[in-house]
Amino acid sequence: MEGIDSLLLLGAGFGLVYGIFLQKGDFCFVSACREWFAFKHNRVLQGGMLAVPLILFGWPLILAAGLAPLDRLWLPPVGGSALIGGLVFMIGLSRDGAPLLNDEQMERYSRHTRLSEVGVQGQRKLLDSKVLIVGAGGLGSPAGLYLAAAGIGTIGFIDGDRVERSNLQRQILHDEAGLGRLKVETAKERIEKLNPDVRVKTHPVILRSENAFSILDEYDVVVNGCDNFPTRYLLNDACVMLGKPLVDAAILRFQGQATVFYPGKGCCRCLFPSPPPPGSVPSCAEAGIIGALAGQMGTLQAMQAIKIILGIGENLINKLYIYDALVDDHYTFQWQPREDCPVCGENPTITELIDYEQFCGGPAPGGEEAAQEEGRYANDVSPSEALKMIEAGARVIDVREPREFERQHLQGADLIPLGELSGRLEEIDYTRPAVLVCQIGERSRRAVKALREAGFNETYNLEGGIIAWVNHRLPVEN
Ligand code: ZN
Repeated sequence: MEGIDSLLLLGAGFGLVYGIFLQKGDFCFVSACREWFAFKHNRVLQGGMLAVPLILFGWPLILAAGLAPLDRLWLPPVGGSALIGGLVFMIGLSRDGAPLLNDEQMERYSRHTRLSEVGVQGQRKLLDSKVLIVGAGGLGSPAGLYLAAAGIGTIGFIDGDRVERSNLQRQILHDEAGLGRLKVETAKERIEKLNPDVRVKTHPVILRSENAFSILDEYDVVVNGCDNFPTRYLLNDACVMLGKPLVDAAILRFQGQATVFYPGKGCCRCLFPSPPPPGSVPSCAEAGIIGALAGQMGTLQAMQAIKIILGIGENLINKLYIYDALVDDHYTFQWQPREDCPVCGENPTITELIDYEQFCGGPAPGGEEAAQEEGRYANDVSPSEALKMIEAGARVIDVREPREFERQHLQGADLIPLGELSGRLEEIDYTRPAVLVCQIGERSRRAVKALREAGFNETYNLEGGIIAWVNHRLPVEN
C-alpha cells in the first residue's frame, strides 16, 4: 500500500515538474519567474531557478525514496525539500550572471522594461541585436532614430549618397549643417548623440551583388529603405539566401506600403515576381513625396524589426499593408508564398546573386520584347478603365490559384487558374469582353497574350493586378 502511494506521489511530482517546464503557452511559470526576478534584480536567474521545483516538488521525491513515512508529511519531507531548495537557491544565485542592464540603461529603458512583453531580458535582447538599414533616407531616418532610441546595439547604414537640401523635408537624420557630407556619417553622429549604447557601422557604398553577402552577413534583421528596384530585388535574393528577415517598405506621393519577408514564408519575388517595366514607376524626385509619410512608414518598419527581435506579437509577415495618407485609409492585403518562386520556391532557379541592373532595366523575361516593340503592353487597362469595362458588361476572369482567389477577388470574378486556361477555353465567350486579373498583372498579361493568340480578341489585362485595384480603393470580395 505504502509503495503504491509513493509511486503515485512520484508520478504526480514528475508530472507537475514536466508540465511546468515544458508547457508552450503564452504563460510559462518558469519564464514568468525568471522575468519577475530579472525585473526586480536585473539578473537572469539560472542556477537559482532549480530551487523552485525542489521546494515545490522535492517532498514527493523524499516520500517516494522512502526517506520519510507518509503520515508525517510536514517534517521532514516538506521541511527538508524547502531546506534543500533554499540552499540550491543561494548557491545558484551566487553563480548567476552579471547584471543585464547597467544603472543608466535601467533608467533609459524603464518604459520598455515595464512592458511584460519586453522586460529586462527583452531589452537585453535588443541591446545584443544588429539591424542593417539600407538607405539613410526618408524611411531609413525614422527607422534608424527609433531603433537607436530603442537600444538596438548595432545599427548599420548602407548609403553612398551625400546630404542635399531637398532631402531635409523628410530625411530627419540629417540637417542643414550636414549638407554635402556623406549621409552615413551624419546619421552616425546623430544617432550617437541620441543613444551612447548604440554602435553605428557605416557602409558608404552602393549595395551590389559583389558586396551584399559580406555586408549583410553579420546582421539579424534587414530594413529596406532604398528607393530603386535593382536594390530591392538584390536585397530580397540576398536575404533569402542568407535566411535573414527583411522589412520592406515603399513610399510615393501620398501612398505607402510595407510588408515583412520572413525566411521560409515567401519573399519579394512571391509578391512581385518581376519589377515593373523601366520608367513605368516614377521616382520620388519625379512624382513627389509627402514628408511625414516617410516618418510613418519608416517608424512602422522600426516597429516590425523590434517585434521580430523580441519575438512578440504579430508582424506584417505575408501581409501587404497599404496606406493612403491623403484620405487616411489603410488596407492589409494577404499574400502567399509561391511554390514556383525562382528564389524561395521548391526548385529555385536563382541560386546566386545576378546582375540586378540588367534584371530590372533590360527587356522583361518571357519573350515580351515583341509586345514591348508594338507599344508597351497594348492590352493593359488601368483599374479605372477596367471598372468602366466591367460596368459595361465585361467578364472578370481571375487566373490566380484557388487559395489566392479565396482570400480576395473582384466582385463577380470567375476563377480559371493560368495553368488550366488552355484546357478551359470553351468556358470563355469570344464575343464578350473579358478583363483578366491576377495578383500584380503578370500572370494575367501572359494569359491575355495566350488568349489573343487563340482568337479571343476582346481580352484585356488589369495592369498591376488586384493590388493596383485595391490601391485605387475599388471593392473586393473576401
Ligand atoms: Zn519567393
